[in-house]
Parts: sequence; C-alpha cells; structure tokens
Amino acid sequence: MRAAVYPGSFDPITYGHVDIIERASRIFDKLIVAVVTNPAKKPLFSMEERMDMIRESVKHLKNVEVDGFDGLLVNYLREKKIEVVIRGMRAITDFDYEFQMALTNRKLNKNVEIVFLLSDSKYLYLTSRMVKEIASFGGCIRGMVPPHVEEMLLKKFRVSSSGSL
Ligand code: ADP
Repeated sequence: MRAAVYPGSFDPITYGHVDIIERASRIFDKLIVAVVTNPAKKPLFSMEERMDMIRESVKHLKNVEVDGFDGLLVNYLREKKIEVVIRGMRAITDFDYEFQMALTNRKLNKNVEIVFLLSDSKYLYLTSRMVKEIASFGGCIRGMVPPHVEEMLLKKFRVSSSGSL
C-alpha cells in the first residue's frame, strides 16, 4: 500500500491545497493531511478548527485522512511508518523554502522522499496569508476557499472586530 503525508499549516485550507490533495489522492492509496503546530507562526485558527475545515473540504475523497502533529515531521513519519511527503509548488518564490525543508528532512532521515506537485495555474498565487488579509478587510474571497471556510473566516473577523476575540 502506497501512503503519503501532506503536511502544512492550512491556516486555513484554500482551493490550492484542495487541488494538491485531489492530485495526491489519485496517485497514492492513502493520504494523510497533517496539520502542523508551528511555534514560529501564530495561527488564526486553532488546530481543531483547521482540521475540521480540511475534513469538510475533502469528504468526497475516501482515501484521505486528516490528522495533526507537533514536533518534527520525520518523527511523525516514523510513527506512521510512511516515507513519502507531498508538498505543493506555487510560483518560483516557494522553491527556496521548499528546497531547504526537503533537504533538511532528508538529512534527518535519508529514506524520506519528497514529492512536489503543481496545482492548477489558477491557484498559482493563492496563499492562506493572502486570503486572511483580504477577509480581514472585508474583501471577497469567493473562489479562493470552499464556502464553509469562507464562512469561518467571516465569523472570525466579525468576532474579532467586535472585540470579543
Ligand atoms: P506551510 O506553512 O508549511 O508552508 P501551507 O499550509 O502554507 O504550509 O502549505 C502547505 C503546502 O501546500 C506547501 O507545500 C505549500 O507550498 C503548498 N501550497 C499552498 N498553497 C498552494 C497553492 N495555491 N498551490 C499549490 N501548492 C500550495
């Protein structure tokens, strides 16, 4: 059985992520989308919220599981007995960071293979950061994230602008 892990912040999941998940789910028998707790980033959404939004976005894909982890990716891979990592590539701006990440993980475990997938060109410049920024100013994010994610973003920013967050 061929299995792979797609790790990321997914804060929140966008159609760019969904596109990569759909592609990977066609290549592998099982795909785990793993939400990372990155201490260097302060996420807008909690781990549970991010996992719930992913679950709802990929419920049409029967071989996709959603999980979360903290610490090193190589340790998580060892625990799951999986050696393939999926990453998405957007514009060339992703390359340097992804290269660094890939080689560092390879150094920690030489058996890890990192598979880079390209999303559809319409998602080439789509990032979670941009979606959050647009939503925070009340801009339209339709077509960038699934409807339930759009709703969560609107709710989050409504609550935060009314001072209850
Ligand atoms: P991280 O915080 O680890 O960069 P992200 O949640 O931003 O995690 O993204 C996870 C992975 O998905 C990364 O490999 C990123 O390059 C990729 N990705 C994000 N958005 C897109 C997109 N629009 N098209 C293709 N890949 C994407």
